[in-house]
Amino acid sequence: MSEVRCSCSCGKAGLVVTGPVMGRVRCHCTICQTANRAAYADSMILLAKHVPLERVDYVRFETMKDPPAIQRGFCRSCGCHVVAYGSYWRFLSLAFVPVARFPAEVPLPEPAMHVFYDFRIADVADAVPKYGKWPSDLAVLRTILRTRWGRAGRS
Ligand SMILES: [Zn+2]
Ligand SMILES: [Zn+2]
Repeated sequence: MSEVRCSCSCGKAGLVVTGPVMGRVRCHCTICQTANRAAYADSMILLAKHVPLERVDYVRFETMKDPPAIQRGFCRSCGCHVVAYGSYWRFLSLAFVPVARFPAEVPLPEPAMHVFYDFRIADVADAVPKYGKWPSDLAVLRTILRTRWGRAGRS
């Protein structure tokens, strides 16, 4: 896979994705709702090393302490949510990039799960598995392993 350049809505902040997408998750937690100014965050899951921090431009980071501790990056100009980094397990550091940050022509996998669904603003009528909180390590890993590039476009 070649590099993908993602950017915020005003175009000043950006980052480069250098590796494959591992999955797609819709998070209904209140932090995601606030950060994305939406009912939930629709994000791509990547390995943190595939979103190199030294190539993240014009972003200010905030640490959100709610477990799991996560660093969220916002455009310094328009304030839109560009990237989040978190370590969910001792051995795995992940990055999350909102779907809207990807260029439209990049094929992205379908959502694999809703998480923190107990905090939802509205019910979502789809067949995607829903978890009340962040699911078990096993559920996430299964999702990551199942996701492949190019299987489906965006919904
Ligand atoms: Zn911006
Ligand atoms: Zn969330």
